[in-house]
Amino acid sequence: MKKLLSLLLAASMCVVLLAACGSNGSADAGKGAASSAPAASAAASGDKSADKADGDAAEVKTIESGKLIMATNAQFPPYEMVADGDGVNGTGFEGIDVEIAAAIAEKLGLELQIDDMDFDAALTAVQQGKCDIVLAGLTYTDERAQLMSFSDSYAQGVQAIIVKDGSSITGPDDLANAAMIGTQRGTTGYIYCTDDFGEDHVAAYDNGAAAVQALQNGQVDAVVIDKMPAETFAAENDGLKVLDTAYTTEDYCAAMNKDNEALTKEVNKVLAELKADGTLDQIVAKYINAQ
Ligand code: GLN
Repeated sequence: MKKLLSLLLAASMCVVLLAACGSNGSADAGKGAASSAPAASAAASGDKSADKADGDAAEVKTIESGKLIMATNAQFPPYEMVADGDGVNGTGFEGIDVEIAAAIAEKLGLELQIDDMDFDAALTAVQQGKCDIVLAGLTYTDERAQLMSFSDSYAQGVQAIIVKDGSSITGPDDLANAAMIGTQRGTTGYIYCTDDFGEDHVAAYDNGAAAVQALQNGQVDAVVIDKMPAETFAAENDGLKVLDTAYTTEDYCAAMNKDNEALTKEVNKVLAELKADGTLDQIVAKYINAQ
């Protein structure tokens, strides 16, 4: 009976968490490359596990004791940016992912250190055990999940298309007519576009700013990049616009080294708490309103 009760409780919590997240299971299968992040597990919440959180947190090992080292590419507003001042908790960085990482570090009693690098380098760093966690507006894909340990999803991302005003590209279908599409190296935008239009029609740049510069210079006809940074780039660059129709929709998650399942478990607990108590919504509102 006890077992049945806890099973029922676990199942109902799953539903609550899914509703709170609002993104799991909704990734657009249209492009094939992305798929839904795993649903929040029952183990990620519940009074019992919350009571035990501190004990479990003490078990978590990080590369450098006392520190949580996060790798990211801090040119991805509003998720991660170099701060004008001290940044979140003196890290020198700010943004939605930075605040989430700060909450995780605080919960685990660790000091947050942020290493800023190209996006593809961040993915390599976590796989090679050079950082503890990647938070980088990172999209869940089944392929990446073979290489890294993914947390539950904390946000939904959208691949958007940036073009010059007056472009003949007015939606995703028109990308087939683009001689060249600009993307960031190693991103889902690159993966989807090469899958759909072939490598000859896709150029990969170090970061979003470089891809947008290439669009301004006429080296590419469109840039496929996550929507939030796309809007920032379009606002900062005259003559560019973000098309209304999205290229695809995906789930953002944190990623850890495959050997550090204990950290993944703790990260999921913190994410569940941030969702449940409204902190995540507040963090998002703070940065979106500031845009
Ligand atoms: N969401 C995209 C991906 O995971 C891009 C992330 C980024 O550029 N920081 O590939």
